[in-house]
Amino acid sequence: MSEDTIFARIVRGEIPADIVYQDDLVTAFRDIAPQAPTHVLVVPNRIIPTAADIGADDEAVVGRMVRVAAQIAAAEGIAEDGYRLMINCRDHGGQEVYHLHLHLLGGRPLGPMLAR
Ligand code: AMP
Repeated sequence: MSEDTIFARIVRGEIPADIVYQDDLVTAFRDIAPQAPTHVLVVPNRIIPTAADIGADDEAVVGRMVRVAAQIAAAEGIAEDGYRLMINCRDHGGQEVYHLHLHLLGGRPLGPMLAR
């Protein structure tokens, strides 16, 4: 692989992470700096840099990301109260890691969608 990311290294088990789910397409692990009682990142195993780079061939993996996030929310016991799924894209979106990731946030009321 010519490109690498910290999340790709987590997917490959090269650096430690609190992995909560992994299959042939996606990996989910707890965010290292949680913003809510539940804060899990769901990433494609294969690097897709940003939401803007999702292609037609990626529809299955992106669908899997969302479905796995919902399953983790249920397993964490936060599904009934609700939660937030979030993808930051590029500079204005505040994206720090250029390996697509879906934030699953919940476990408390999350307030307004954006900081004012
Ligand atoms: P974003 O700003 O959407 O790119 O989010 C990147 C997220 O990755 C942040 O919430 C970080 O706390 C999280 N993060 C960065 N490095 C790690 C890591 N090694 N393990 C788990 N989460 C990480």
